[in-house]
Amino acid sequence: MSFDTIIIGGGLSGLTAGIALAKAGQHVALAAAGPSTLSYFSGSFDLLGYNAEGKAVSRPLDEIKNLPASHPYAKLGAGNVAQLAAKAHSLLAEAGLSLKGDGINNHFRITPMGVARPAWLSLDDCLTWEAPQPSKGDEKSPFNFQILNIEGFLDFPVEFVAYGLRQMGAQATTHTVALNILQANRKSPYETRATSIARLMDNDEILRDFAAEVESQIPNPQSQIAIVLPAVFGLSGSEPLQKLRSMMGVPVYVIATLPPSLLGMRVQNVLRKHFVELGGNIFHESKVTSGIISGGEVTSIASGYSETVTADNYILATGSFQSHGLVADYRKVSEPLFNLDIDAASSRTGWTCPAIFESQPYMSFGVSTDSHLHPLRGATAVRNLYAVGSVLSGHNALAQADGTGVSLITALAAAASIAG
Ligand SMILES: Cc1cc2nc3c(=O)[nH]c(=O)nc-3n(C[C@H](O)[C@H](O)[C@H](O)COP(=O)(O)OP(=O)(O)OC[C@H]3O[C@@H](n4cnc5c(N)ncnc54)[C@H](O)[C@@H]3O)c2cc1C
Repeated sequence: MSFDTIIIGGGLSGLTAGIALAKAGQHVALAAAGPSTLSYFSGSFDLLGYNAEGKAVSRPLDEIKNLPASHPYAKLGAGNVAQLAAKAHSLLAEAGLSLKGDGINNHFRITPMGVARPAWLSLDDCLTWEAPQPSKGDEKSPFNFQILNIEGFLDFPVEFVAYGLRQMGAQATTHTVALNILQANRKSPYETRATSIARLMDNDEILRDFAAEVESQIPNPQSQIAIVLPAVFGLSGSEPLQKLRSMMGVPVYVIATLPPSLLGMRVQNVLRKHFVELGGNIFHESKVTSGIISGGEVTSIASGYSETVTADNYILATGSFQSHGLVADYRKVSEPLFNLDIDAASSRTGWTCPAIFESQPYMSFGVSTDSHLHPLRGATAVRNLYAVGSVLSGHNALAQADGTGVSLITALAAAASIAG
């Protein structure tokens, strides 16, 4: 079996590259094995949230020129990144995701731990505001929050959220809403996950009962009030929450729950569907086990399939340590499929910083590439191979809040290079 391009890894970066290539008319296959880090997705895409001093960035595209040369954005060039960011925004919207954010200015989202973090684009369902803190009197920024959990649901720490909001000066009260059908069918607390609740909420009658129950919990509906719920609505789109909003007539928002994140599953489902509709091929549960590089090119890859699968170009989108795109033993960090060159501290003592809340060096370890995202092996670029997403070195998704941005931008850059 032969393809124009084979993508290894079905997370955000692999799917983005796949969609861009399929749109360009390529015959593309994507080998997807194992869960991706979209299971931890907050509901917000970031481009660049913090600068080198750890200060929140308000206009991410303006800040790119200050990044070190080793950062993937710096390798691609600030002008190129600005164009690719606009393309990424369109691609997500075309795939069917309802987004907020103007693509230029960052806004703020709230984590399940009640902390505000800068974000570039957010799913329309999510609680966000423009300034670092919600402010009284600003119509765009709800100030009085009623935070509701669903009885028996353990993955939404409401008290943390409320505490965080109060620390920012807002009013926040917490409530628990019973969802009778959930209680009736529940055999153990462990089966009450965001996904199982979302399946129930697809039913309009259950949604109406839930809306009535929530309304009965709101003591004094008033202006500037916002209902905040765990993100348990809409595995494949935002329709259930939109319906709930129109049933209730007050602003209703969600915050991502602890993993697995339903919002991340939605992004994955929507992008996969779009990729397949564009003619892309997904090999599910297909783990690539090794790849052969000969004469400066990938000549073949091995997977569980008995049939040999080849392509003109290959994209490595296997993620970082979490997804086994990078592996570490006590001596070294390595890339397991092609044994590519790695940018990492040579001594183990340089891997971590003893102050655990400081930026950790290992977070920016990854595959070394040239400025076209061709990985290096033995210091030589592999011509028909591209590395994209969090397998790349030179950025720290946690400290810089640039993880999904790097995935989207580098995937589109590689796809543009391949499609010419
Ligand atoms: C805990 C955590 C929380 C995060 N939260 C956020 C957030 O809230 N907002 C945000 O913007 N970013 C967040 N990020 C960052 C963001 O999720 C990632 O930067 C980005 O989504 C990475 O996408 P990726 O496709 O590069 O890698 P991954 O999501 O890691 O996907 C790689 C995929 O490749 C597969 N794979 C690996 N090896 C093989 C193989 N040999 N064969 C086939 N498949 C293979 C893996 O199983 C996986 O499915 C978070 C990251 C982590 C780790």
